[in-house]
Amino acid sequence: MKFRNPYFFRFITPEDLLPPEELYGTKEKMVTCINRISHRDNGDSESEGTSDEPPDSGQRLQNFSVFNSLHNLGADLQGIKKVTKVYPAKISRHFFSLIKEKDDPIWKQCVPSLAELQDNVNSADPLREERDTKVPGLVHRYPDRVLLLVSSKCAMYCRFCTRKRKVGKIQQIPMEQIEGGIEYIRQHPEVRDVILSGGDPLMREDWELEYILKKLRDIKHLDIIRIGTRVPCVLPSRVTKHLCDMLKKYHPLYMNIHFNHPAEVNSESRRACEMLADSGIPLGSQTVLLKGVNDSPEILKELMQKLVQIRVKPYYLYQCDLVKGVEHFRTTVQEGLAIIKSIQGYTSGLCCPHFIIDSPGGGKVPLLPEYVEDINEEKIVLRNYLGERYVYPNPR
Ligand code: SF4
Repeated sequence: MKFRNPYFFRFITPEDLLPPEELYGTKEKMVTCINRISHRDNGDSESEGTSDEPPDSGQRLQNFSVFNSLHNLGADLQGIKKVTKVYPAKISRHFFSLIKEKDDPIWKQCVPSLAELQDNVNSADPLREERDTKVPGLVHRYPDRVLLLVSSKCAMYCRFCTRKRKVGKIQQIPMEQIEGGIEYIRQHPEVRDVILSGGDPLMREDWELEYILKKLRDIKHLDIIRIGTRVPCVLPSRVTKHLCDMLKKYHPLYMNIHFNHPAEVNSESRRACEMLADSGIPLGSQTVLLKGVNDSPEILKELMQKLVQIRVKPYYLYQCDLVKGVEHFRTTVQEGLAIIKSIQGYTSGLCCPHFIIDSPGGGKVPLLPEYVEDINEEKIVLRNYLGERYVYPNPR
């Protein structure tokens, strides 16, 4: 199969750097042109959906409009080009529209930074996923659950991604490889839970996703199917009635959605999450603690409270992984613990995620601030969220 270059910004030409007015006469003409092509492509205003074909004129115009907007906001375009030679970049128009100014928390998550090339500390695969890969695209680390990679594409390439080494670097994961992973699950009766991941599983076409789900549901010992996705947050228009009607045929199906900042919870992501929730899919969230994006108690508390309002249960808050190219996003673990301590007790328990370190090669470890001062056969000495001391007796 012919390799298609998936690097979003690699298609930029000097012509693309012209202000839109110079290329189209007026800004209005440009917008009309983009909208027309977008609707033609997908029947939807977000045409970056499910195809990674080389950019046709429609997609190219969108890239062009993003690139010009970056230029207007003061981005280092040469720096961006340099980074995208190593790590792919793609920004959905929805996510891009949330940027208020250069270097704000939304910008930092999606606009390539030269800092990505200056990380000489971390490794490409710190979680040792390749070591635990049993057949191509299937990671089996824990006793009863596996990770099945079903897509190499995302709606946006997050600059802090744990799979930075992989995402966006091939056109798509072949179905034969996914079938090999499904066969592995079929032959391992201890596996009762599969997490579909990638890239983003919702970047597959509906029929492809249904093909995978149907095959998985045919495996009698498999109880739970989970989908890890960022699509409802970064490309909410991908969540359609057709998709939801298809997904709800394969219960029990859970979805973990990646949200990092309160600005990501808006009318469009709310609509997408409500459609999924109305389809009976329990929704959880995964958030990565990121320096300059959400490393404050106020921001994270607001995010968690907003997620509960759109029926997404905060599930995990991850310490940023030791991935090559993301060192500039890392906070200390102590900062993470302090943030959790400042949320726990101050708002509903429903809003409190588990704080997790994915230890290098050792899997997930939950961390809690110190609430236990002393414990013995007679009693446990506790500090509550206000730091007040209480004694709780054990049974005699
Ligand atoms: S959507 Fe997920 S897999 Fe894709 S780039 Fe972002 S964090 Fe990585």
